[in-house]
Amino acid sequence: MDNIRFIALQTAMCRTQKSVSFPDKKASEYFGELTFNEPAMREYLTEEAFQKVMNAIEKGIKIDRGIADQVAAGIKSWAINNGATHYTHWFLPLTGATAEKHDAFIDPVEGGEGIEKFRGIELTQQEPDASSFPSGGIRSTFEARGYTAWDPTSPAFIMDRTLCIPTVFVSYTGEALDYKTPLLKALYAIDKAAVDVCQYFDKDITKVFATLGWEQEYFLVDEALFQARPDLMLTGRTLFGHSSAKDQQLEDHYFGTIPQRAMAFMQEFELEAHRLGVPVKTRHNEVAPNQFECAPVFEEANLSVDHNQLLMHLLEKIAKRHHFTVLLHEKPFAGVNGSGKHSNWSLKTNSGENLLSPGRTPKSNLRFLTFLVNTVKAVYEHADLIRAIIASPGNDHRLGGNEAPPAIVSAFIGAQLTQLLNMIETSTKKVRIDSNGDTELLKDFPKIPEILLDNTDRNRTSPFAFTGDKFEFRAVGSSHTCAPAMITINLIVADQLMKFKKDVDALIGKKVRKDNAIFQVLKKYIKESKPIRFEGNNYSEEWVTEAAKRGLSNHNNTPDALKAMTSKKTVRLFADNNVLSERELEARYEIKLEHYTKKIQIESRVLGDLSMNHIIPIAIKYQNTLIDNVKGLKQVLDYQTYGKLSHNQMETITEISEHVDKIKTFVHKMIEARKVANRIDDIVEKSHTYCKQVYPFFSEIRTHVDKLEMLVDDELWPLPKYRELLFMR
Ligand code: ADP
Ligand code: MG
Repeated sequence: MDNIRFIALQTAMCRTQKSVSFPDKKASEYFGELTFNEPAMREYLTEEAFQKVMNAIEKGIKIDRGIADQVAAGIKSWAINNGATHYTHWFLPLTGATAEKHDAFIDPVEGGEGIEKFRGIELTQQEPDASSFPSGGIRSTFEARGYTAWDPTSPAFIMDRTLCIPTVFVSYTGEALDYKTPLLKALYAIDKAAVDVCQYFDKDITKVFATLGWEQEYFLVDEALFQARPDLMLTGRTLFGHSSAKDQQLEDHYFGTIPQRAMAFMQEFELEAHRLGVPVKTRHNEVAPNQFECAPVFEEANLSVDHNQLLMHLLEKIAKRHHFTVLLHEKPFAGVNGSGKHSNWSLKTNSGENLLSPGRTPKSNLRFLTFLVNTVKAVYEHADLIRAIIASPGNDHRLGGNEAPPAIVSAFIGAQLTQLLNMIETSTKKVRIDSNGDTELLKDFPKIPEILLDNTDRNRTSPFAFTGDKFEFRAVGSSHTCAPAMITINLIVADQLMKFKKDVDALIGKKVRKDNAIFQVLKKYIKESKPIRFEGNNYSEEWVTEAAKRGLSNHNNTPDALKAMTSKKTVRLFADNNVLSERELEARYEIKLEHYTKKIQIESRVLGDLSMNHIIPIAIKYQNTLIDNVKGLKQVLDYQTYGKLSHNQMETITEISEHVDKIKTFVHKMIEARKVANRIDDIVEKSHTYCKQVYPFFSEIRTHVDKLEMLVDDELWPLPKYRELLFMR
């Protein structure tokens, strides 16, 4: 067979830009048309059913069986009128992907005819045979039943002529087997805790929503080139590849003109996203060549998590139509930027106010400071957990890579707010109460809105940065679901707010005036959580030293980082708030370790196979042509000239042998290390062994393969090179 790389290159070069067929409607006319949104509900549900669903969405009130039947009938008519033939419960198992099992609406009836059926029970609950989903030992195979149950807060939608119903997924014994279950519980916790604290400031606040706006980064490569790289296909990243002479050093890709082929792809996925109600808003080129970003308008966190999941699915699906493969991996290419999923988080009240947005009055500023300081304190208390939930083999390459947040968790709030917190920390003033009983406390400090207007200072290196009216959690990996990040942030802040309320109430009980009590507790928290605040360059070496002095952890690999998932502190946090039990946490920990181990195992196998079957044979083939050449020279030249002219070839022949030898030795050693690791039963030990004994061979082997890439005749090299993968074709 001819060199597959050239076949792929030829295919990629002949691509023409696919045209997108735009609907002849305005975006506002097709936005959300494939979701069972409020207008659809009004049209297809009885008034009673509509109210009950709205109550379930807004107040979490359960929908009874009779109403469920009515809702099901409405959804069915809507779905069928919009072309759906099947339905499925759509859930987020612990694989991190989405899962679905489709059933047809059609049911045969006597006389050989069929009718579409969909009852309340099929809407609200299903029992998929779930034995093949990871459960971390929670569900033994003899009790393989798992249940999915409807989540009315995330609207059903139609994709590929299938009605998709977002659901939670739990085991027969009631344990969570998915991300949505603990997410909904964490969101409930933050709602309750934040409302309780808001009551100090405003009695009209009865509901608090967490908001999430993610920013999804990804790479695009031509599908033919992707398929010519077994490492990309099997592991999602390149295990080899010499850097391209030009990549991102000229900084000419970021915000540059979007290539036409990529633009057509974006227009098409945005169109589909909008029809599904996913409010994608911005698109741009990212730092690395062929790297892009898409971000929506923020939404309520549970919906936003589902929408990100849906978007990742759309990206992959629509990319195929354009003969692209989308790479969601955190680090598909060494040496250029990796991809993240910045998760912007804030809290919004029923009256639409942002609790992390400073207000105009001293009172609302005290509220703002309350939420800001409690968030920072929560991050301080649970930094290790935050590090744990973003740990993955893909993110290990990215974190601390001088382009992404480091593995040390810290929070940035900007110079002016830092100054303000420092002033509060050292203030000896008491709160002054004006004639209306309002606090004048903060009148002594600089006005916060003015500070923030000025505050253009954005620290791009911080993993958790306050950016004016929200926190931006930047360490989430591009392929991850946002759910763990949202479970964790909301839960730790909820837990912290509850402690805050307790502390404040205790002081009030001792006859301290409310505002004074709040101020005193904040002051204490500001002091206690100081070590987590860092305004400097998170990529610097000095920070590593400084963070160690402050007692902050720095776990630079997944197995180490994951330990915090079952620490005493974490178990207490999740159990006290009824989000996950210790057993459920342990199961999740185990699943993460298994996942890590399997990923490294697969990468190691691919690396070994490619080295032995692709790289070494080609290197030897090229070496043979050099040997033939030397032999030929010897025949046609006199001894002296031959000695002079064959020198270069001889050198290359030797170098090739040296690299081949090294590759073989390291591959052999890596396989031996793998055998040892595979014999270990304990998953904690096994994952650490993979990390410490197997993984280090990757870079050793890669170094020599990449050297060979530079030596071997370009016409023979079998794998598409970085310069071919990274520039749009
Ligand atoms: P960048 O971080 O690239 O400078 P922006 O700050 O404008 O961009 O916003 C990035 C993301 O932050 C968007 O996805 C947006 O929806 C989200 N965002 C903005 N405000 C909030 C908020 N109050 N809560 C959650 N996400 C928000
Ligand atoms: Mg951002």
